[in-house]
Amino acid sequence: MARYEPVIGLEVHAQLKTATKIFCSCSTKFGNEPNENVCPVCSGMPGVLPVLNEKVVEYAAKMGLAVECAVNRESIFARKHYYYPDLPKNYQISQYEQPICEHGQLVIELPDGARKTIGITRIHMEEDAGKSIHSASENVSYVDLNRTGTPLIEIVSEPDIRSADEAVAYLKALRQVLLYLGICDGNMEEGSFRCDANVSIRPVGQREFGTRTELKNLNSFKFVHKAIEYEIERQTDVLDDGERVVQETRLFDSARGITMSMRGKEEAHDYRYFPDPDLVPVRFDVAMLEKWGTELPELPKARKARFMADYDLPEQDAEVLTAERELADYYEAAVRAYRQPKKIANWVLTELLRELNVAKVTPGACPMMPEALAKLVAMIDDGSISTKIGKQVFPDIFSMGVADPAAYCKEKGFVQISDTDALETAVDEVIAANPAEAERFKAGEKKLMSFFMGQVMRATKGQANPKLVTEMITTKIGG
Ligand code: ADP
Ligand code: MG
Ligand code: ZN
Repeated sequence: MARYEPVIGLEVHAQLKTATKIFCSCSTKFGNEPNENVCPVCSGMPGVLPVLNEKVVEYAAKMGLAVECAVNRESIFARKHYYYPDLPKNYQISQYEQPICEHGQLVIELPDGARKTIGITRIHMEEDAGKSIHSASENVSYVDLNRTGTPLIEIVSEPDIRSADEAVAYLKALRQVLLYLGICDGNMEEGSFRCDANVSIRPVGQREFGTRTELKNLNSFKFVHKAIEYEIERQTDVLDDGERVVQETRLFDSARGITMSMRGKEEAHDYRYFPDPDLVPVRFDVAMLEKWGTELPELPKARKARFMADYDLPEQDAEVLTAERELADYYEAAVRAYRQPKKIANWVLTELLRELNVAKVTPGACPMMPEALAKLVAMIDDGSISTKIGKQVFPDIFSMGVADPAAYCKEKGFVQISDTDALETAVDEVIAANPAEAERFKAGEKKLMSFFMGQVMRATKGQANPKLVTEMITTKIGG
């Protein structure tokens, strides 16, 4: 029995997929030459004025609606002061007292299938900082301000999370919603979806929370899990030794799998927050909020439930098919082209996912159109090709983006032989060439059917209609 209960709250920074930055018209494009996407506003020159990008407000409000927040029709930007080498103003424009969204929640599903609701304290808008690049060999530090002023939303959870598994489930669910909304690309390696984990432990049964540490630099789900587990163990040792946990910011060292003290944790008053005098309060009317509400896509949970109900899919299949909006869209387009939802699901979940994985492309960039996949499945159903041939031609149809699988199979000579005359000749030849096996079959050794099937398939290059072959062998040999 564990003596301590972990308490975890997550702060997630999601980079918004706007074309331009939050307070200027510089591009947000990733991967440009250092300091290419920079102007006097985002490089923090004195005397310049920020102008709010309306898309940022729309995206933040939509995320709020998607996770059942109250969206405040008036919110305020505040300056958060800090020494930021890569944010030259030395304050970050963020929101403090009146954020755009508050009091939301997200239902998560745990590995054992259990569900749990995690409260969302707030969502606020803010600008990102740039990047410092330290070159040890040259003994210099560089600064790249391309990312400076890129819009972020920070999503702060209630301390409702109780394990590393729950933390990862929450992050995955949150990321999935952002991707469904199309407002963040969710790329953890490039930092467009980042998380700080606040972790404390308390003796089981105690109401008050323990002292928390804040873990930074968690850029994969795996690292989030590892860092939290490590931190729970570390704090357990501290308390067991009769010592106190120090409130601080700790850095996760992914190479060593440990967290290390980075700095004492600032308190809110250290930041000297105050309303930014350069920006008026953000206000929008009810009509605007209603319009954004109508623009929300069907969200992952609802879509999964609908897939199970409408297409009669098992939960696990519906889960995988709706994990990404693009894949769910692909699947539904294929079902519209050929209304056999279960058969289409099987092909999407096996052959298609495998090819996407091999080619390292997203479902949205899939060279094989959903209509082509539908056509292939239909051809198997009507007997014009066998399942085996279907699987054999799939990688080519996929990689070449063949639009008309029927024409392709015909051209390649991949058609199922359902012509009885042609099949009869092949079956007769196989029986004549294997008299001993034919005798044993006749005497009752029915498992030899697969032997004959294999021979006929070899003779016909896999193109024989298996159903017809089975019938012919049974009537011809008898027994
Ligand atoms: P700060 O900016 O100081 O980190 P925030 O309010 O932005 O403060 O975030 C605090 C986060 O820490 C929230 O996710 C909250 O749920 C979590 N948290 C607060 N107290 C504790 C605690 N004792 N143990 C674990 N997490 C906590
Ligand atoms: Mg924090
Ligand atoms: Zn700029």
